[in-house]
Amino acid sequence: MSQNKQDTGFSFYIPLVLIAAFLMGCLAISLMDIREKASSVISDNPVSAADAVIKENTVRKSPVYNDGGLKFRLVSASDLGIGNKSVSQPDVPSESSVSSRTETANLDGGLKLPMEHYINFVPHKSGCVAYLTFDDGPSENTEAILDILDYYNVKATFFVIYHKDMEDKYKAIVNAGHAIALHSYTHDYSSVYAGEASFFNEMEMIGDYIYRQTGVRTMLMRFPGGSSNTISRKYSKGLMSVLKKSVKERGYVYQDWNVDSCDAEKSNTPPEKLLSNVRNSLGSKKTAVVLMHDGGNRTGTTVQALPAIIEFFYEKGYSMEKLDMTVEEIHHNW
Ligand code: ZN
Repeated sequence: MSQNKQDTGFSFYIPLVLIAAFLMGCLAISLMDIREKASSVISDNPVSAADAVIKENTVRKSPVYNDGGLKFRLVSASDLGIGNKSVSQPDVPSESSVSSRTETANLDGGLKLPMEHYINFVPHKSGCVAYLTFDDGPSENTEAILDILDYYNVKATFFVIYHKDMEDKYKAIVNAGHAIALHSYTHDYSSVYAGEASFFNEMEMIGDYIYRQTGVRTMLMRFPGGSSNTISRKYSKGLMSVLKKSVKERGYVYQDWNVDSCDAEKSNTPPEKLLSNVRNSLGSKKTAVVLMHDGGNRTGTTVQALPAIIEFFYEKGYSMEKLDMTVEEIHHNW
C-alpha cells in the first residue's frame, strides 16, 4: 500500500518537473534572444553606444539638447581619447590638497564631476587658470552652455550683445554665477567702428541693457573682433589705437584672448577640431583666456565640444574662473 502511494506521488510530480524544465528552457532562450538583440543594436548603431558613454560622462539632465531644431551630441574628453589615459599629474598633491579634494567631493554644491574625473583633478601648484569666455550671445545655445558649466561647477564669462526676445537668458547667466560683460550692442562693425562716439554709444547701450535685465553694471569689455581687428580700418582708419587708449581713460577694462577655439570661423567645425584648436593654442601658457562663442555657432559644435574642453583643462591642472576687473588683461599686441 505504502509502496503504491509513493509510486503515485512520484508519478504525480513528473509532469510538474517537466513543465518547470520546459518553462526554464523557454526563459533561457528568450533571455539569450534579448541579449543578442541588444548587442546587435549596440554594434549596428555606434551612436547608441556612444550615447551610453556620454550619459555617464557629461550632463546630468540630458545628453542631447533639442532647441530650435538643433541637436547637440555632447562629447567628453574620454570620447576623444584624451580622457583618463593622458592625465598629467604635474605636482604630487600635498596632504592638505588631498583632504580638501575629498571633502569637496562630498559636499553639496562642490565639484559635481564623476569621481573618476574628479580624482584626476590636481591643480598645478603654480596656479594655472583658464578663463573660458563666450562671445556674441545669448543664443539658443546659452541654456546648454549653462547646464554644462553647472555640471562641472565651472564659472565663465559671457561677452554679450543685444538679442531680441532673450531677456531671460541674460538673467540666467548672472543667476548661475557667471560674469556678464560688454561686447557692443549690435556687433555690426559698420556701427561699432564708425567712430569713437559711435563705439562708446554701442558700449553704453549694451551696458544699460545688461543693467536693466540683470541689475549688474559692468565695465568689463571685449572689442568685437578683438583689439587686433583690422575690419575697423574699413570704417575708420587708425580708430583702434584711439579706442585702446580711450577705453582705459573712461574706466573700461578690456580682455582679448590668447587661446582660440576658432569656433565661429566657419560653421559646423567638428568638436574634435575645436578641442585640438584649444590644445594647440594653449601651449605652455599658465593663464589662458579662451575664446568660444555662444552666438555665432548656430550648428552647436561649441556646445558639443565644451565638456571635452573643460575636462582637458581639468586634467591639465587648470582651475576655471570667471573674469573680473582685477584679472590681468590679456591684450593682442599684433
Ligand atoms: Zn564677437
